[in-house]
Amino acid sequence: MPDTTTERTKQPQTKATYKAKAYSAASATSRVASTTIPRRDLNENDVQIEILFCGVCHSDIHQVRDEWHSFMPTTYPCVPGHEIVGRVTKVGNGVTTFKAGDLAAVGCLVDSDRSCKSCEADLEQFCPSAVLTYNGPDKHLGGVTYGGYSDSIVVDEHFVLSVPSNLDLAGTAPLLCAGITTYSPLMHWDVTKDKKVGVVGLGGLGHMAVKLAHALGAHVVVFTTSPGKQDDAMRLGADEVVVSRNSNEMQKHAGSFDFILDAVAADHDVNAYMNLLARDGNMTLVGAPEKPLAVSAFGLIGGRHSLSGSMIGGIKETQEMLDFCGVHNITADVEVIPIQKINEAYERMLKSDVKYRFSIDMASLKSE
Ligand SMILES: [Zn+2]
Ligand SMILES: [Zn+2]
Repeated sequence: MPDTTTERTKQPQTKATYKAKAYSAASATSRVASTTIPRRDLNENDVQIEILFCGVCHSDIHQVRDEWHSFMPTTYPCVPGHEIVGRVTKVGNGVTTFKAGDLAAVGCLVDSDRSCKSCEADLEQFCPSAVLTYNGPDKHLGGVTYGGYSDSIVVDEHFVLSVPSNLDLAGTAPLLCAGITTYSPLMHWDVTKDKKVGVVGLGGLGHMAVKLAHALGAHVVVFTTSPGKQDDAMRLGADEVVVSRNSNEMQKHAGSFDFILDAVAADHDVNAYMNLLARDGNMTLVGAPEKPLAVSAFGLIGGRHSLSGSMIGGIKETQEMLDFCGVHNITADVEVIPIQKINEAYERMLKSDVKYRFSIDMASLKSE
């Protein structure tokens, strides 16, 4: 294969822009409000997408409010949104995989160096030069990248995904973060038919993990602190539901899990779950509690258990996930909102008052 990285850098890069409608936060204490932003005119390898739906992820709230200041300070104005689906409106001359009219999606990444070991292994999410879809350094226009709370976006075709035509688009948007974040560790830890899989926490991430693990043929057990979630967990594809505060119920599953996905972002006791792993079982964290977790060595050494983390997925795997969801007709359970309700949606998310993800209908932006 030719070295496309060098070819790319040789091509003239345009600095010309057009105006796009968007919603942005002006500061850590501002509400998200209507604005316009510049988007670049198309370069050779760019795809322009009219955004139809954008999912609302917890990271949007964290970054709008600059709550990750110590490791990822927010640059304002901040246009969040990294669960993007839409339709291609225009493509650059060098684009081969998309044409105007195609359905397309963009997730958490819009660029990387394309040459490091992680990129070579199709794991762009671990590239030291990975560019996040919003609040990342914009190589083209300077400043930071602007995300999906907007009527359009321009992205290099390598980072644009194809959307299976049978999927509901509002429910597809959250697959781009919540979907791949849970699919990737299920693949990495080889979850297949008849494996026993636990899912801790039934929120935006957890509900996707249940659907995906069920579709992979696993025996799925949901752990929840709210007994009221039992019926919903079963509807989503769980085989069993365990109320994690009930130690007798927990004990019944001791030493039996091949894999546990922990999607809890709040402080919680991971040791109770480590003890439920079978020999060589793994537990993977995809949530990010603020404080360090206490891990008992006995929960690890007894059964050669391991505790891991995972973060989104590479572009190749994201496409595989979308194709898998197309075959199994899997989308997120969403509540569709107009962009004008975004601040209210944030407040409701903080109270876990959403089943299970908000998806913004971007047609609502046309009236701004
Ligand atoms: Zn996200
Ligand atoms: Zn790289």
